[in-house]
Amino acid sequence: MSAGQNSLELFARAKAVLPGGVSSPVRAFGAVGGSPPVIRRGNGAIVEDEDGSRYTDFVCSWGPLILGHAHPVVVSAIVDATERGTSFGAPCKGEIELAELITGWYPGLEKVRFVSSGTEATMSAIRLARGYTDRDTIIKFSGCYHGHADHLLVDAGSGLATFGHPTSAGVPEAFAQKTLVLPLDDEEAVQKTFAEVGKEIAAVIIEPVPANNGLLIQRPEFLQYLRDETAAAGSLLIFDEVISGFRLGPAGAAGQYGIQPDLATFGKIIGGGLPVGAFGGRAEVMDRLAPLGPVYQAGTLSGNPVAMAAGKAALTTLERDSVWGKLETLGQYLDDTLGELLKNGPIPAALVRIGSIFWISLQDGEPPRAAADISPDAAEIYGRLFSHLLDNGICMAPSAYEVGFLSAAHTTEDIDALVREVGAFFEGLK
Ligand SMILES: *Cc1c(COP(=O)(O)O)cnc(C)c1O
Repeated sequence: MSAGQNSLELFARAKAVLPGGVSSPVRAFGAVGGSPPVIRRGNGAIVEDEDGSRYTDFVCSWGPLILGHAHPVVVSAIVDATERGTSFGAPCKGEIELAELITGWYPGLEKVRFVSSGTEATMSAIRLARGYTDRDTIIKFSGCYHGHADHLLVDAGSGLATFGHPTSAGVPEAFAQKTLVLPLDDEEAVQKTFAEVGKEIAAVIIEPVPANNGLLIQRPEFLQYLRDETAAAGSLLIFDEVISGFRLGPAGAAGQYGIQPDLATFGKIIGGGLPVGAFGGRAEVMDRLAPLGPVYQAGTLSGNPVAMAAGKAALTTLERDSVWGKLETLGQYLDDTLGELLKNGPIPAALVRIGSIFWISLQDGEPPRAAADISPDAAEIYGRLFSHLLDNGICMAPSAYEVGFLSAAHTTEDIDALVREVGAFFEGLK
C-alpha cells in the first residue's frame, strides 16, 4: 500500500506527538497494514490527500456525511452562524429549531438534550435510565458499540474487535459488572436474564441496526421482543441510533421497524459534520434531567450555535431533496452490481445492505446476525481488498468490521468504479 511521500512524512510527525499518530484508533490502519493518507480536503464524494491523490470516499467520516463533503448548504450555514459568534454558553435559537425539527420526526421523541458526541449521548442516556428507574444494571449486546464510556466499552465491536481486545483496559471490573452482555438475535438469552434479574435492569441498549461489527441486521421480531420484555419489567429500551438516525429516514430505525424506544441516542448525521450528539424521549423521562430533576448532565459547548446550524442545514436538506429515497435507489443499484459480483466471485462473499449502509461480508452462508457468527478469516482477505481499492482511488473503512456509506454525492459511476476494482481484485486472486 502506497501512501504518497507527503502523507508518509506527515504521519511520521504525527506518530511523534499523537499516540499511534491518530485521534481515534481505527484511522491508524493497524488492521489493514500500510500508512494512512493524510487528508487535506473533501468535496462531494471525493477526498484528496496531501500528495494530491484523490479517492472516492465510502467512509464519509464514518457516517456523518450523508450529503457528502463540504455540501454548499451546510458550509454556508456554518459560515453564517460563525460570523454571529461561535459559542455563547446561553440558550440559542439554533438548538430550539433543531430540537423542534427532530421531535417532529422521531417516534415518541418529546424532548431532547444536545451533547457533543455520540459517546456522550449514550453515556448520558444510560445515566438517565438509571436515575429514572432507580436501578443499576444494564443489558447490552455483544458487538454493539455505544461509544467509549466505561460501562459501555464491554464486547463493543469494531475498534476493539479489530485489535483483539474484548474489553478495554482501564475499565474497572466493578463497572463492567453492572453491564450484562448478551448475544444478538437470541430471545432465549434475554428471557432468561429478565427472569433472573429483571427487577434490577434499568435499561436495555441496542443498536437497532448494529453497524459497528459488520452489519448485523436483526429480525424485527427480536427488536419487538426487547420492546415487550423491557415494558413488562419496568426497564427502559434505548435505541442507539447514532449511525441509523437520520440515515434510514427521518424516524430512523424506530420508524423502519415500527418500534418506539423509551430513549433514543443520536450523533454523526445530526451535526452535519460538526461534533454533535443528542438523546431524547418522552417528557416525563427527560424531565428527570437537571435542572428539572436529579440526574446531572451538562456541557460547555452543548447546543453550540455553529454545530446546531450545520445540523439543521443538513437535516432540512435531506428532507427537501428527498435524499433518503434517492439513497435507497442507489443502494439497489449497489445490490444489482456489487452484490451480484460478490455472490459470483472466486471467494465466499456477500453484500449486506440496509438503506445507504453497506458491508462486504467475506464468508459463506447467510449474512451473520450476531457478532460470534462472523468468520475470523475475513480480516486477512479484507486487508488485501482494502489496499487494492485504496491504490486504485477508492477509500473504504480500514477494518473488515466496519461498514461503508453511500451519500447524496455518490453516483452510479462511483459504484461502477468500485465494482470494477473489486472485479480486478478477484481476477488477481485466480
Ligand atoms: C459512532 C457511534 C457512537 C459514538 O459516537 P462518537 O461521536 O464517536 O462518540 C455511539 N454509538 C454508535 C451506534 C455509533 O456508531
